[in-house]
Amino acid sequence: MQNSSTFLPGSPSIQLANSIYHVEAYLDHAATTPMNPVALQAQIQASSLIGNPSGSHRAARAAKDLLERSREEVGALLGAAASEVIFTSGGTEADNLAIFGSTGGGRIAVCSTIEHHAVLDSVKAGGGKLIGVTSSGAIKLEELESFLKEGGERVGVVSVMAANNETGVVQPLAEVCALVRRYAPKALCHTDAVQVPSYLDVGEITAGFDLVSISGHKFGGPKGIGALLVRRPASIKALFHGGGQERELRSGTQNLAGAAAMAAALRDAVENRDENVRRISMLTEKLRSGLSAKLASIKPNGADEVQMCNITNYCFDGLNSEEILFLLDAAGICASAGSSCASGALNPSHVLLEMGHSKSEASGSLRLSLGVTTTEEEVDYAIEAVAGVVRELAIKKGALWI
Ligand code: PLP
Repeated sequence: MQNSSTFLPGSPSIQLANSIYHVEAYLDHAATTPMNPVALQAQIQASSLIGNPSGSHRAARAAKDLLERSREEVGALLGAAASEVIFTSGGTEADNLAIFGSTGGGRIAVCSTIEHHAVLDSVKAGGGKLIGVTSSGAIKLEELESFLKEGGERVGVVSVMAANNETGVVQPLAEVCALVRRYAPKALCHTDAVQVPSYLDVGEITAGFDLVSISGHKFGGPKGIGALLVRRPASIKALFHGGGQERELRSGTQNLAGAAAMAAALRDAVENRDENVRRISMLTEKLRSGLSAKLASIKPNGADEVQMCNITNYCFDGLNSEEILFLLDAAGICASAGSSCASGALNPSHVLLEMGHSKSEASGSLRLSLGVTTTEEEVDYAIEAVAGVVRELAIKKGALWI
């Protein structure tokens, strides 16, 4: 069976790049998605423009025109004005800009303990405050409330992700925003919405938020492009200094082809969201019930909360994520543990530890994330392969739950 190449158009060089490996089931859409053909087309077309959008001659004006049309499109699809879209190099930069841009001078950041490291490590670096989560993976609102009640005037930004990238648990953004407005009216509300545009209405769930991060490669766009929506522009400061692009908030010549491709990918993701959610929910249900039928005692992490329809996360106590992923990879399945560092080494997931899992449970985690290109055949194949690999390892290690 051939897979992710089905999402790629007929360019021979791209097919060549894709055919150097063979994938039976790509179940790592939360890490990155295959590029949508409409986005790829937009990227190729935009790459042929030679102008620098900051210039003044006709070539520059053509580039600027496309950049501004892309900005308008991204804003409109996310419930923001074009002027509120600040293009960045991706989700990590957008998160860093949100946190460092709104703290310092005695003002700290607050976030949940299960944020992506782009937020978590930025908050820690500035001596900020971390708020815990429940055993099912949602931020503890009462803990946030009592911290803000006492120390709200010191807070520059509160950052809570829209949905967790490891468990898919959707966070109570409206309640977070209400607490911030009530107890820390000078603080900004930021959400890392990187995982959600294909599944949730970003404009609706982030209504009232000042800062929203997105990343193109999570919804069929290219890697290396993202945006921060800045709904209160005057109140954050730039991290990069230079030509003053992006309303002086992000200097540097813009990634025009990336912005155009991200806008095209986002349009497709938003226009087809309802149908994709319906289909992916069905496939996720099939995956979960197929695995439960073969491994009776397992339960997805976060399943007691509202979850995005595409992510399933398990802990296999006593097993090792690296071994699971190695055997799955050998069977042609791309999946992840949910938490990997740049070197590829796996640490027990901070998200699962914060939810109260033991180190032994968190060290045996597996994240299976579906996406718009996922087929029923991939899910069928994955059920057999995952159950086989987990059973084999569990028997070898004498895990009692098998
Ligand atoms: N935030 C979340 C929730 C993510 O899942 C990711 C990527 O995995 C990022 C931020 C970082 O985004 P990028 O890869 O565009 O830097």
